[in-house]
Amino acid sequence: MDIIGIDRKYHLQVYKRFPVVFTRGEGVYLYDEKGERYLDFLAGIGVNALGQRHPEVVDEIKKAADELLHISNLYYTPSQAMLAQKLAGLSGLSKVFFVNSGSEANELALKAARRYGMKRGRFEFIALKNAFHGRTMGSLSVTGREKYKRGYKPLLNGISFVPPNDIDAVKEAITEETAAVIVETIQGEGGMAILDHDYLQDLRKITADKDILLIVDEIQTGIGRTGRIFSYEHYGITPDIVTVAKALGGGLPIGATIFSEKVASVMDFGAHGSTFGGNPLITRVALKVLEIIENEGFLRNVEKRGEYFLERLKEKLGNHKLVKEVRGRGLMIGVELHDPVARDVAERMFEKKILIGVSGDYTLRFLPPLIVSEDEIDRVCEVLEDVL
Ligand SMILES: *Cc1c(COP(=O)(O)O)cnc(C)c1O
Repeated sequence: MDIIGIDRKYHLQVYKRFPVVFTRGEGVYLYDEKGERYLDFLAGIGVNALGQRHPEVVDEIKKAADELLHISNLYYTPSQAMLAQKLAGLSGLSKVFFVNSGSEANELALKAARRYGMKRGRFEFIALKNAFHGRTMGSLSVTGREKYKRGYKPLLNGISFVPPNDIDAVKEAITEETAAVIVETIQGEGGMAILDHDYLQDLRKITADKDILLIVDEIQTGIGRTGRIFSYEHYGITPDIVTVAKALGGGLPIGATIFSEKVASVMDFGAHGSTFGGNPLITRVALKVLEIIENEGFLRNVEKRGEYFLERLKEKLGNHKLVKEVRGRGLMIGVELHDPVARDVAERMFEKKILIGVSGDYTLRFLPPLIVSEDEIDRVCEVLEDVL
C-alpha cells in the first residue's frame, strides 16, 4: 500500500515529514514497513520517555482497557484523583487539572492567570523571544516566533516578548496590567537556550514581590527529561503555575496544569472543563509512568547518561568548524551550528537510520528515550561526527 501517497492526498499537508512509514517499535528502536531499524533519538519529541513497548506500560494499558475507558468528568475515578495527588506532591503545588495536550495545558494556565489578575485589571503577559508554547490561539499568542503565527492575527493583545536571560528587559516590560510571565527553562523548539540559574531566581523574586504569576512550561523539560521530575527544581524555585504533557502519558495523550493554592482558588465551579481530560485509562498509565520515573535511581541515571552524552559530543565536536556550542541538561541536549543547516544534518542522520530533531534552523536537538544506553549514545556521536 502506498501509505505516503494516501497521506499526501488525504491528510492536511502541514508537516514536513521524513519519507518513512513506521509500523513497530522496541525500546529505543523503530522499524519501518520493510523491517529496517532506526535508532530513535527524538522519542516522539520527548513523549516516549520510556521508549516503545515498555513492558510495565503495555501491561498497565491492557489492564486499564479491561476496566474503564471513559466516563466523563461528572463522576469520580480513582486514577484521576490519585494522579492529581501525585503531581501536586511532586511539584510542591496544590491542585491539578487534566487536559489532552501541551497547548491546552498552557491555554488553561493563561486563562487562570487572567482570572487571578481580573480583580486588579491585570490581563497582560510577558513571554520570551523564541518561546514555543503551542498552537491554540492563546498559547500561540505567547509563542515568540513569527513563523508559527503567520496568517492567524489578531491574536491575544497585551503580550510583550523579552530576550531570555535579560532581567532588566523583564523589569522594563512589567506594567500595572501584567498578569503573568511564562517561560521554558530550556527552549525546546526555539534554539535550546537555557535559562541561567540567577535569572530564573531573580524572575521569581520580582514576580512574587508584585504578585505577578510565574508560569513555567515544563511540557518538554518535565517528567524526568532533565534528571528531575520538573526542571525548575534545578533552580530552587517554585512557580505559581506549571504545565506538563509530552512524557506524562508514556506515549498516550495527556496534559496537566498544576496550580498554587492562590491561583486554584479563583478557578471555581464552571470556570473550566474538558470532555476527555484525565480519562481513567490515561491517568492510570500516567501513574505507572511516574512510578517508574520518580524513582531516585532512574533520575540519577538520566543525569549520568546526560552528562556522558554531553561530554562525548563536546569531545568529538567541540572543535568542529561547523559547531558553535554543545549544551543541555539531562537528556535534553542541543548542538548549535554556525550555519542554518540543522535540517540538512537531520536528513543526513536519517539516511544513516538515526532519528534526531532540530530546534530552529541552527540547532540540532537530541531527546532520546530516558532508558538509552551508553553504547547507543556512542553510536549517535560517531555517526554525527561523520555526517558533519
Ligand atoms: C510540545 C510543546 C508544547 C505544545 O504541546 P502540544 O501537545 O503539541 O500541544 C508547548 N510547550 C512546549 C515547551 C512544548 O515543547
